[in-house]
Amino acid sequence: MSTYDYDLFVIGAGSGGVRAARLTALDGKRVAIAEEHRVGGTCVIRGCVPKKFMVMASDFSHQFETARGYGWTVDASFDWKTFLEHKDVEIARLSGIYAANLGKAGVELVHGRAVLKDAHTVEIVGKGRTITAERILIATGGRPWVPEGLPGIEHAITSEEAFHLPELPKRILIAGGGYIAVEFAGIFAGLGVETTLVYRGPNLLRGFDDDVRAHLAGEIEKRGIKVVLASQHERIERTDAGLISLLDNGLTIETDVVMFATGRIPYVKGLGLEAAGVALTEAGAIRVDGHSRTTAPNIWAIGDVTDRINLTPVAIREAVAFHKTVYRDTPSRIDYEAVATAVFSQPPVGTVGLSEGEARRACTDGVDVYVSRFRPMKYAFTGSDERMLVKLVVDAGSQRVVGVHLVGPDAPEIIQLAAVAVKAGLTKGQWDATCAVHPTVAEELVTLREKQTPSQMAG
Ligand code: NDP
Repeated sequence: MSTYDYDLFVIGAGSGGVRAARLTALDGKRVAIAEEHRVGGTCVIRGCVPKKFMVMASDFSHQFETARGYGWTVDASFDWKTFLEHKDVEIARLSGIYAANLGKAGVELVHGRAVLKDAHTVEIVGKGRTITAERILIATGGRPWVPEGLPGIEHAITSEEAFHLPELPKRILIAGGGYIAVEFAGIFAGLGVETTLVYRGPNLLRGFDDDVRAHLAGEIEKRGIKVVLASQHERIERTDAGLISLLDNGLTIETDVVMFATGRIPYVKGLGLEAAGVALTEAGAIRVDGHSRTTAPNIWAIGDVTDRINLTPVAIREAVAFHKTVYRDTPSRIDYEAVATAVFSQPPVGTVGLSEGEARRACTDGVDVYVSRFRPMKYAFTGSDERMLVKLVVDAGSQRVVGVHLVGPDAPEIIQLAAVAVKAGLTKGQWDATCAVHPTVAEELVTLREKQTPSQMAG
């Protein structure tokens, strides 16, 4: 019998921490988990889940437009407060389920902030409680990052506050060009807010396939979002009329709300890592090996705090691998190749595998590229010129499909299954041997026959 209070103490009850705690407790181990906010973490409380509700709420305006083309008369209005109320009830329900499941598995939930005192001891701040554990798992996630030195940054909000705005603003400016910036720009524009997106780079979604980036920028402008590229804030001022953003290109933009979506950083501040011998990477994430073990031999870390791939399903897999490695005597690593991802912009993006640029660097025999841009059938009656992008990137030597990139309706749903084929290493011939499902947008994935020629690529 161990002399510690617990076999495992988990810090952070988000997607990763909860999964690891439950699996370990279900094995009969003594497990406690600390959470300083609400059980569920970023994904459930202030990320994926409430964000998706907001995307769905916002997308109705687009659906109503489409419906008019089909003969419907739509006289719709939107009430932000009703939406917030319903969203908050559902988030509370989900958080309750997470907490109940911890209880059912026999995990003790400790409400409070846990700080490491040494490699086996945590203190629950302000509660006068000290707990020891044989092993500790850090799963504290991430926090929004904003440029602290920017004059007037205190007037800006982040995504955390965007979930609870007391009123829907008339005008919003969103700074950033990543996932959160484009998702919230779509949300607010769809809800009728005059939306401006300001990004410092030449095009949105750095790291994604260039055709996806170009296509999405065009499509979101069609939805009424003003996109200002190659520009950064110099300062933000509050006046009687609202907030004024002064940009380095000389532009001055007046809005009611300024939201910074300029990235998230690992949440390690004040955690006592040094006292426990846990080292950070240069970028400020917890340094871990392939099994998620930190530089302290009895302490592990998973999820966004390790800044590997910052997605909920990845954190959950890291939790499962941790449990197998430590408590099932089966050393496990997770495979970070070909993890599919979706950006819930409007229209949304689904992507898996290599961008064309990455494939050109990785495939020694070159790449074949297949691209289709077309108007989805759904918009035939609406006069909308919204276009879908379907792109396959194929390793010319092996003929394996190494990248799939979609922008358009249902892209996040479609990419889940495309990811199975990419993960399985199927060839373009095998994709083509799969009979199409007609009429769908997804059928393009198995009917693309014409390789892009160099002149089309240049154009
Ligand atoms: P991202 O890293 O995706 O984007 C941050 C953006 O901020 C980039 O466009 C970046 O520009 C810009 N930026 C950084 N620093 C500055 C600065 N000083 N001034 C101006 N702009 C700046 O972060 P997000 O916050 O959007 O999302 C965080 C992570 O959360 C994502 O990477 C993803 O892993 C996860 N996430 C996943 C979602 C999903 O699965 N649908 C949804 C939301 C988040 P540059 O590109 O030039 O560096």
